[in-house]
Amino acid sequence: MSLVDLPLLPLGKGRDLDAERGVECPGDLPAASDPDLVARARAAKEALGERVFVLGHHYQRDEVIQFADVTGDSFKLARDAAARPDAEFIVFCGVHFMAESADILTSPDQQVVLPDLAAGCSMADMARLRQVEDAWDAMADAGIQDLVVPVTYMNSSADIKAFCGRNGGLVCTSSNADVALDWAFARKPDAKVLFLPDQHLGRNTAVLQMGIGLDECVVWDPLQPGGGLSAEELQRARMILWKGHCSVHGRFSEDVVDELRAKHPGINVLVHPECKHEVVLKADLVGSTEFIIKTIEAAEPGTVWAIGTELNLVKRLADAHPDKTIVFLDRNVCYCSTMNRIDLPHLVWALENLASGTVVNRVTVDPDTEADALVALQRMLDLPGKSHRD
Ligand code: SF4
Repeated sequence: MSLVDLPLLPLGKGRDLDAERGVECPGDLPAASDPDLVARARAAKEALGERVFVLGHHYQRDEVIQFADVTGDSFKLARDAAARPDAEFIVFCGVHFMAESADILTSPDQQVVLPDLAAGCSMADMARLRQVEDAWDAMADAGIQDLVVPVTYMNSSADIKAFCGRNGGLVCTSSNADVALDWAFARKPDAKVLFLPDQHLGRNTAVLQMGIGLDECVVWDPLQPGGGLSAEELQRARMILWKGHCSVHGRFSEDVVDELRAKHPGINVLVHPECKHEVVLKADLVGSTEFIIKTIEAAEPGTVWAIGTELNLVKRLADAHPDKTIVFLDRNVCYCSTMNRIDLPHLVWALENLASGTVVNRVTVDPDTEADALVALQRMLDLPGKSHRD
């Protein structure tokens, strides 16, 4: 795959239905300056009543989160949606792959709506089906394909989840990646894992929780011929990490950890496993967004925390826990730009259209992809035991 296959699109402009980048908004949005936006959102939601269920990811803006019926990470929200079969419309305040997962896990009668289709995920975009199929063929050429179990992070498109379902693999979250790797390595003697699309979650889980050596991990670069790896390197590896990352969590750096430790002696550094391995090595605690929230809730008053995850969540935790000092693990303001696409004007636009009988920005997954993706999701739901972290 060449760079020509991945044209850059300004956010919200142009069409690229095969990518997480979505399309431009097809309607007239209310002005962001409209002083009645909150009242309009409330009125539209009330008019829809039990017919609508609004999901809010932890990384969403406060102006949107206030209208969420439930909040959570992507997997919890998809399960919450599946537990509300009476809700005709699921409005997903999150990004595109999350809406796809909700569509897969809900009934065909339920319609999943993403208020702005330009709310994609740059990490999910880093693994596209054609690239992954090319890598799979190269693994056959290297004589290892039969040994490889594909494991994809929840943060991937539905067709990557379906690829894993078709090829004996499964989905994982940041809470259960270690259990998923245990399952994958137990599939066959000398098994190898192809971990998609986040190299950092794959590496951190393999090395820090499974005891796999850094020298047993290789990185498959989809933009290099043969992934940039020789057949011998593929044959020696236990973990084949896809060269993808989160543009938000990839920003956190070791020098800021050192700087904050010097400034706040006794500070606790708490990071998400999508951070770089060197940053995780310097942290005191690592875990999913749910783990980060619970850790801060359980922390003693007066303690000091530096948190390495998306800024909307860090700000909300700081506001909710004024008895603790909570700082962001970056010198700059850094929101997830695509998560932030879902703002109050888009939410009002989506809710008012639904209330007037027009379904806008529906996200659907085709039946074949859905069936295969469901296999991979079901394998995750059936995983035995608890995370090594629990
Ligand atoms: S925070 Fe990272 S992984 Fe999550 S939606 Fe944004 S880019 Fe994707």
